[in-house]
Amino acid sequence: MEELRLDAELAARLRRATRAVALAGAGVSKESGLGTFRGAGGLWEDRRPEELATPEAFYRTPGKVWRWYAARYATAAAAAPNSAHHALARWESLFPSFLLVTQNVDDLHQRAGSRRLVALHGTLAEAVCDTCGRRRPMGEAVAASPAEPPACGVPGGGTGCRGRFRPAVVWFGENLPAAALETASRAAAACDLLLVAGTSALVYPAAGLIETALRAGACVVEINPEPTPFSRFAHLRLAAPAGAALPALTEAIASCRSMTG
Ligand SMILES: [Zn+2]
Repeated sequence: MEELRLDAELAARLRRATRAVALAGAGVSKESGLGTFRGAGGLWEDRRPEELATPEAFYRTPGKVWRWYAARYATAAAAAPNSAHHALARWESLFPSFLLVTQNVDDLHQRAGSRRLVALHGTLAEAVCDTCGRRRPMGEAVAASPAEPPACGVPGGGTGCRGRFRPAVVWFGENLPAAALETASRAAAACDLLLVAGTSALVYPAAGLIETALRAGACVVEINPEPTPFSRFAHLRLAAPAGAALPALTEAIASCRSMTG
């Protein structure tokens, strides 16, 4: 994307902003090669991904669900953060207060340097015991047990936890992590700048966070190739992929905030 020119009023709002929130979705990781994980024909071992990302599928066919997440984890681990992830990591130093709220389960934000973030849908990078909640790195859990979800209890212990590890992501039909949701809602209610990038924000809670920020009077910037229901409320809309638009926007914000007066 060419250098981004901001009109004077918008530049003034971006210069004054002190509490920014960014809401990121799948579009941010798309240019790292992480898509819908549907593969050829949209099937994986004759199942659709939507049928694998549920607690019921895990209890019915634990090995199949475990292997699918092991494959997704391997794909994400082999991917690299793109220019959109790197640009978002810069936002932490651009504003006195910043929170990144991501719907992505890969850890590309963290690998690009983001530290102030909440992952609404959990993470592929960890496995969690379905009984006691103990966590361990997904890579380690997959290496220990590639085909079936590993048991939690200490081997030979007898009194150990009888649970087994599952990916630490939020499945269809499960609640979002309450603490992450609370943190995101509070930040949206107090923000004066909201960036929406790479998500159509059609579903709860993303749509609710945008409404909250708009009610709070925040300046809203949207980056999405396609229009969304919130596009008409955006103070600035960039109809482009995040990998191109986010670095240009970040550069424009950095330069207008470095101006004095
Ligand atoms: Zn356990």
